[in-house]
Amino acid sequence: MGAYVPDACAIGGCVKGYVQPAHTASAVGEVAAENIFNQEAHYANPTCVYMEPEAASMGLTEEVCKAQGFSYKMGKFPLTANGKSLILNGDEDLVKIIAGGEHREILGMHIVGPRATDLIGRGTLAIGTGCTVDEIIVTIHSHATVTESICETASTVEKRAIHIKN
Ligand SMILES: Cc1cc2nc3c(=O)[nH]c(=O)nc-3n(C[C@H](O)[C@H](O)[C@H](O)COP(=O)(O)OP(=O)(O)OC[C@H]3O[C@@H](n4cnc5c(N)ncnc54)[C@H](O)[C@@H]3O)c2cc1C
Repeated sequence: MGAYVPDACAIGGCVKGYVQPAHTASAVGEVAAENIFNQEAHYANPTCVYMEPEAASMGLTEEVCKAQGFSYKMGKFPLTANGKSLILNGDEDLVKIIAGGEHREILGMHIVGPRATDLIGRGTLAIGTGCTVDEIIVTIHSHATVTESICETASTVEKRAIHIKN
């Protein structure tokens, strides 16, 4: 049983009521150190589930956008249309991107499928740096990789997909 200590702050696994994976615990430790030196710290924090298939998520969902009245565009790409995913025994998996309705900045990325916990690094970087759908589309993704699905998903936001019907 923990004790409440006034004016004491806690980070990591001992904080009650939140999912606290190792990368979050580590990053929040850095935030705490930066805050102690009066520096503002912003970190993008993905959620990963290491099951089979893997799942990973970063940023806003459609449900949150609707509830908050945000203007958004959504793109979805089935991993059955990604060769490397099929090689890795991917099934009915998918990548989903939520982008701002006006400027198409990436607001959310959600992935279920092979290497989802690796792929989410792209979403974390995109959201952390304010990257747009267009910037992902013009980034050439090497073939044959599961990362191609990120570019394909960005293309579906603009109805410019090449390997599925728009
Ligand atoms: C089975 C399992 C699997 C996990 N898998 C993953 C995963 O795949 N990916 C992921 O991101 N996260 C995973 N986690 C979560 C991850 O381990 C924690 O988020 C992370 O370790 C939290 O780091 P921390 O430094 O806050 O705490 P800890 O790593 O728990 O470190 C706390 C330290 O404090 C020490 N300590 C405790 N009490 C005292 C005391 N009174 N005096 C001195 N020292 C003390 C402990 O011995 C320990 O060394 C997993 C956790 C478990 C239990």
